[in-house]
Amino acid sequence: MNTLHRLDGQLHLEDVALSRLAEQFDTPLYVYSRQALETAYQAYADALADTPHLICYAVKANSSLAILNLFARLGAGFDIVSGGELARVLAAGGNPAKVVFSGVGKTVQEMRAALEAGILCFNVESASELQRLNRIAGDMGKTAPVSFRVNPDVDPKTHPYISTGLKENKFGVAIADAPALYRLAASLPHLQVTGIDCHIGSQLIDLSPLSDAADRVLALVDTLAAEGIALHHIDLGGGIGIRYHDETPPDLAAYGRELAARFKGRSEKLMLEPGRSLVGNAGLLLTRVEYLKPGEDKNFAIVDAAMNDLMRPALYEAYHEIVAVDQRNAPSLRYDVVGPICETGDFLGVARDLSIEEGDLLALLSAGAYGMSMASNYNSRPRAAEILIDKNEIHLIRERETQASLMAGERLVY
Ligand SMILES: *Cc1c(COP(=O)(O)O)cnc(C)c1O
Repeated sequence: MNTLHRLDGQLHLEDVALSRLAEQFDTPLYVYSRQALETAYQAYADALADTPHLICYAVKANSSLAILNLFARLGAGFDIVSGGELARVLAAGGNPAKVVFSGVGKTVQEMRAALEAGILCFNVESASELQRLNRIAGDMGKTAPVSFRVNPDVDPKTHPYISTGLKENKFGVAIADAPALYRLAASLPHLQVTGIDCHIGSQLIDLSPLSDAADRVLALVDTLAAEGIALHHIDLGGGIGIRYHDETPPDLAAYGRELAARFKGRSEKLMLEPGRSLVGNAGLLLTRVEYLKPGEDKNFAIVDAAMNDLMRPALYEAYHEIVAVDQRNAPSLRYDVVGPICETGDFLGVARDLSIEEGDLLALLSAGAYGMSMASNYNSRPRAAEILIDKNEIHLIRERETQASLMAGERLVY
């Protein structure tokens, strides 16, 4: 996280001391750096400068309105996976004409809302979905722009990062079935075939599966063109990894050069759907140590954040770096950093060497993506507040939930 630094031993994000935020807004607290968000977006824009493109931020990575609004003002489009995300994009001032709608289970209501809003494209994932979309568009007297999400079947043996993605047959249509589906789509009266889409997985550290996927998708596009089905855009999805621990993520500039070479002389617009790589390293989760619990085998640091705030460690044993906000000189001890939730899986970090005392603050780094957007109210815990730092300015972009807001909408039975 580039905008994180120490000043007199105190951890700062941009120009603001994290300890000050904890005092003012309490913990657990999500804190984002505006500069980091904008730098991440600009890295894509620079990498793709020579190729006509649209960057569609994958909303599910972090759907807070202020963050969507920031990306909208930078010119981003959006990749949504639900009607709720569409509503958020519109509320945040996003341009519906730059929205693509992904997901295997689009409901009738979601299709209607997206057609009403006038989105750029539906990324269709099955023949049944195609038929439903044609029917709904017809009912509404509209034409639905469609692309298929194809599964490019990239060799999993050489690219283990995506092998699980290949086994999931829930997503996309087999690339071999795509020509027939495109012919079907072209024959349906209320659809307009506009593009093609793929998304092969997440947290990709190696560029080669992305390159292989791009090759296969471009070959398919050329086959379709030869049949008279011309596409306007080619969406290569998201999935670029970030550094959580010791990973060396792909070089965006190199990826951009590769894409520029592939798209040179082509008429289709390039689209990408990055999520994690735009927000992941722009945010952290601030938490306070409630208790230190030494043990024979293990020491526990029990903190006030938990798996309901940041689910990734419990969900897929994901690693987040954990650092003490204020440096101490005492020797460090090895701790499992855990939350107060009544689940053994409620851990945030295992075997971390920290020099801390009760009441100290910890920062869980790289928590900007799939952190707040996956947070829940398990154990009746209000979701954390969110802060956006802009140099020395502090913006509360989401209030902490209250017990009243959690219970609103519930009824007793007499
Ligand atoms: C989640 C998702 C993305 C974003 O993936 P990242 O790994 O966060 O970049 C893009 N497209 C689709 C269809 C997705 O489901």
